[in-house]
Amino acid sequence: MAQKFQNLINGRWVDARSGQTFENRNPANWNEVIGTFPKSGKEDVDDAVKAARAAFEKWRLVPAPKRGDIMRKIGDLMVARKEEIAREMTREMGKVLAETRGDVQEGIDTAYYAATEGRRLFGHTVPSELPNKFAMALRVPIGVAGIITPWNFPMAIPTWKMFPAILSGNTCVFKPASDTPRTATMLVEIMNEAGLPPGVVNIVHGGGGEVGNAIVGHPDVDLISFTGSTGIGKGISRMAADTLKRVSLELGGKNAQIVMDDADLDLALDGVLWGAFGTTGQRCTATSRLILHEKVYDTFMSMLVARANALKLGDGLLPESQVGPCVNKGQRDTVASYVEIGLNEGAKLAAGGKIAADGALANGWFHQPTIFTDVTPGMRIAKEEIFGPVLSVIRTKDIGESIRILNDTIYGLSSSVYTRDINKAFQAIRDIQSGITYINAPTIGAEAHLPFGGVKQTGNGHREGGWTVYDFYTEWKAVYVDYSGSLQRAQIDNY
Ligand code: NAP
Repeated sequence: MAQKFQNLINGRWVDARSGQTFENRNPANWNEVIGTFPKSGKEDVDDAVKAARAAFEKWRLVPAPKRGDIMRKIGDLMVARKEEIAREMTREMGKVLAETRGDVQEGIDTAYYAATEGRRLFGHTVPSELPNKFAMALRVPIGVAGIITPWNFPMAIPTWKMFPAILSGNTCVFKPASDTPRTATMLVEIMNEAGLPPGVVNIVHGGGGEVGNAIVGHPDVDLISFTGSTGIGKGISRMAADTLKRVSLELGGKNAQIVMDDADLDLALDGVLWGAFGTTGQRCTATSRLILHEKVYDTFMSMLVARANALKLGDGLLPESQVGPCVNKGQRDTVASYVEIGLNEGAKLAAGGKIAADGALANGWFHQPTIFTDVTPGMRIAKEEIFGPVLSVIRTKDIGESIRILNDTIYGLSSSVYTRDINKAFQAIRDIQSGITYINAPTIGAEAHLPFGGVKQTGNGHREGGWTVYDFYTEWKAVYVDYSGSLQRAQIDNY
């Protein structure tokens, strides 16, 4: 019998009011049910928002360093349960254990960063233009944050959002992806156990259409932080406009790695394999285009195809597996449909291209690591996010053309350039349109204390990570203290 999990609302574990549930299954073996979770609806969101609103009135008054102490405790509990969480995460979404351990570690790093921010949350003191008057700007919390997250980083992404939100004095209503409710539940268990008062963190499981929409449309939710696809993000932005909520959107990507003729080819090879096929290509920062200099094209392609063909597909819990399954059948079928699209557009398959369902892979959603050559920048496989193990290779002749090709997409999340020429590297840093640029490193590998996010249709200008995310979760309040004892009219009495 599958284990039954619940929502956490106001510090209590409860079923959906409707009593309905949904199943969570292992994408490496779809016969394995991990658990059942509440299929919640609007009324459960209402309960959670009510609890979060009430908790906010007390939580905002807790000194930030005290809030930071709880963050440190959360980090400690995550360290203690790291291996257990990583294994459950691999079971529910498929990526290999080394990567799920990394996902948990990113959450731990974010907790410890938030703990230290409790003793910073810096404001500004500034001189007043009038005598005997003091001026400063303070950060104040905003209220109830609606947190909606995808399945590909089921620990890291919720922590990027909830830890700074809560450290800043806000409270949260969290809706995780339907594919990864187990990891999300473990995170909330830990946050609860670390001593957050009831109502500061609430989790409401269920579908995007029901629970997600109810959060976004709720008049008592003050801000929304969403990571997911660009299409859903646009819908959220439109819906949130009705109540003028603050909205942070982290959306899709079509990231590219440029390899110049002067690059260290072995290094670039390791980079593109990790960037394209790590997490089965299901990262927002995955390398889905390789922009390859014509002078090294043939040499590099033969190295790349040999290595890609040797990658071992399998259950992420097995030590020999290098590439896990797609997260579900829909995602695996999307990958297969893009292989068709690429072939119809005239691209050529250099590796993979097929669903993998032999032997031990028979019950999972596996797809071979796939490489297309003869891709031109206008093809759909060069422009659209596939979110699977598919790499499109585009030939280039110099750095200028490479940067133009790289920028020729609606997205702008991550980018990478392999070159030994410092001039080319700096030209790329200046001219590439993306939120993240790596030199001589793959498109994936963000660290928790730096800004994370993209330009163009990858987002709406906010950043997660590091110090920058605290701007999203706080309002600036300007404060003037006049100790002159007389009315002083700014811009009038002093000029
Ligand atoms: P998704 O389908 O957009 O779903 C993301 C979240 O939104 C899930 O929790 C989903 O719930 C929920 N949702 C769905 N419809 C909704 C609606 N109408 N209103 C409110 N919420 C709704 O994305 P995904 O497939 O989980 O994740 C893959 C996408 O995320 C890719 O495009 C990837 O690039 C992007 N991503 C971006 C970043 C970044 O930082 N830029 C990071 C990671 C992933 P259900 O699961 O219940 O459908």
